[in-house]
Amino acid sequence: MAEVATGAKSGKVVIRNIGLLLSGDLDRPILEADTIVVNDGLIVAVGKEKDCNTEGAQTVIDAKKTCVAPGLIDSHVHPVFGDWTPRQSQLGWIDSTMNGGVTTMISAGEVHLPGRPKDIVGVKALAITAQRAFDNFRPGGVKVLAGAPVLEKGMVESDFKEMAEAGVGLLGEVGLGSVKAGYEAKEMVAWARKYGIQSTIHTGGPSIPGSGLIDKDVVLEADADVIGHINGGHTSLPEAHVCELCEKSSRAIEIVHNGNERVAIAAAKAALDLKCPHRIILGTDGPAGSGVQPLGILRMVAMLSSLANIPAELVFCFATGNTARIRKLNCGLIEPGRAADFVFMDRAQHTAGKTLLESVQLGDIPGVGMVMIDGIVRCGRSRNTPPATEIPVVVVPGAH
Ligand SMILES: [Zn+2]
Repeated sequence: MAEVATGAKSGKVVIRNIGLLLSGDLDRPILEADTIVVNDGLIVAVGKEKDCNTEGAQTVIDAKKTCVAPGLIDSHVHPVFGDWTPRQSQLGWIDSTMNGGVTTMISAGEVHLPGRPKDIVGVKALAITAQRAFDNFRPGGVKVLAGAPVLEKGMVESDFKEMAEAGVGLLGEVGLGSVKAGYEAKEMVAWARKYGIQSTIHTGGPSIPGSGLIDKDVVLEADADVIGHINGGHTSLPEAHVCELCEKSSRAIEIVHNGNERVAIAAAKAALDLKCPHRIILGTDGPAGSGVQPLGILRMVAMLSSLANIPAELVFCFATGNTARIRKLNCGLIEPGRAADFVFMDRAQHTAGKTLLESVQLGDIPGVGMVMIDGIVRCGRSRNTPPATEIPVVVVPGAH
């Protein structure tokens, strides 16, 4: 397991000879640039090599004409502590997911913790502890935004104020605790929002024995910031209800890997028909009953591109810039000032697609050749994806 000190600095990093630069921005998904310059973990320049100051770099990467995209963001995970999940008794799942191009994960609740406290003091203590623990420890370098309390009956406004002041910025999936009625959820979601805590609601049938149904009327009444796994986790609401949610709510449309795939496609198409593709964000909802999916976000990208007929460069934005904007994160977009979190990809060896984008549109997942977080190389050729045809080379290795 690779533990990375959170304080490590990248110094100056130059990435040159980029063949395709995906921006993460739906309005301009492909950039006319072949070079990125990074300083101490932040992007400082993006452009043609001749226009960039590339001198004095501690680290130089030759991208070998492959594709560079913002590191993928998994909008919906259920971490517990460290790089361990009790859901399937696995170690190293976060590092393994980094090998699938994911550089940021957002907790939808630490609900798999054995003996998870349900009393209010315990709920708050767990949220604060989880937030601190993942802030201090980043498996594989991945930024895990955790500390997402599950709403329980009896919570009052001051509980949200107290948690926000302690650094909690997220709610776990509304509906996984004892608060399941729309009117109760609505009041608590509004308190959370007042103190800057973002909310996600469980949508659809029960995930595992013990959780419950959240139907479209509860989702609309609660009005959480993110319509969590709109395609069910796994059991989906009827397709017509999912399309109604896309239309009647203005909140984020989160589509997950551990959900109903047919409804995933319907939800994406509904958002496009409603001219609101900016609302689509992607997650895995892992670890889950279906296991841990280190390539879950890449699989979602390939699935939506190939089966919903959406150009691959746009679907990558669902997993990067859209999520960053909706979640107010300093990553997910290739522009100066943003975190230098990148995934280097190329078409998988022997795919039928002639280019990376075409291969994804044909339903194949890309090969990951390198992952960088905060300007530091976290892995070279992925141990999990099919092998990339070409991989980047570290020309000047830097201090790391
Ligand atoms: Zn759920």
